[in-house]
Amino acid sequence: MCTSDHGNHPIAVDVADTAAASVAPSPEIVADLVAANHILFDQGVVDAFGHISVRHDKRPDRFLLARNMAPSRVEAEDIVEFTLDGEAVNANGRKVYLERFIHAEIFRRRPDVMAVIHSHSHSIVPLSVVKGTRLRAMFHMAGFVGQGAPVFEIREAGGDATDLLIGNNHLGRALAEHFDGHDIVLMRGHGSTVVGYSIKQAVYRAVYAELNARYQLQAMQLGEVTYLTEGESRACVASIEAQVHRPWEMWLEQARARRR
Ligand code: MN
Repeated sequence: MCTSDHGNHPIAVDVADTAAASVAPSPEIVADLVAANHILFDQGVVDAFGHISVRHDKRPDRFLLARNMAPSRVEAEDIVEFTLDGEAVNANGRKVYLERFIHAEIFRRRPDVMAVIHSHSHSIVPLSVVKGTRLRAMFHMAGFVGQGAPVFEIREAGGDATDLLIGNNHLGRALAEHFDGHDIVLMRGHGSTVVGYSIKQAVYRAVYAELNARYQLQAMQLGEVTYLTEGESRACVASIEAQVHRPWEMWLEQARARRR
């Protein structure tokens, strides 16, 4: 059983806002972030848990993330601005996600990253706990997975009695270090985090990482798997990820239809 210092709601946290001034992001980026929350729920990547952030378009040292709530219910007024220390700028008394340090420390370490998605999507978790087996690109839609996604072992940074959650800057930094040269990292016994150069690309990757994991588990039961080469992975990223707007429009339409 998971225990925590945060009482009965271990992943909903009260924080005091930092004194830093808030800067209004463009309405378009907020709208895309809200839409991404709904799509990720509709596509089964997140349930009541999991979150997506985007780097602030006017302040690269800030990012935007919903307050502590189920992604399917997020609206524009639920978006909170954070510093790269994970401090809320304008929570105004609203609870925030405990695991905001995932986002903060990745945005700090990877200036090229514009969006971060953390989830516990179903098919990826088994691949986070089996020694000697790694999530690896095995079909053309998931070239970004590459030649073997790193697995973050929280015991190395936090000892053997954590609740597995990334609840402080120290653990966030330890996780973020795994993103050097990788765009998806599995978290042992927990889930995964994926990054992109835009909200749409990150959403695309979160959806197809889950599919790659599902197909990989199925293929491994049948026999030896032929994975993409490094060259194939790169070529697939270059060609197919130029098209991330195509599934985005479809997924958004589906998510909106189901919300009615
Ligand atoms: Mn989590």
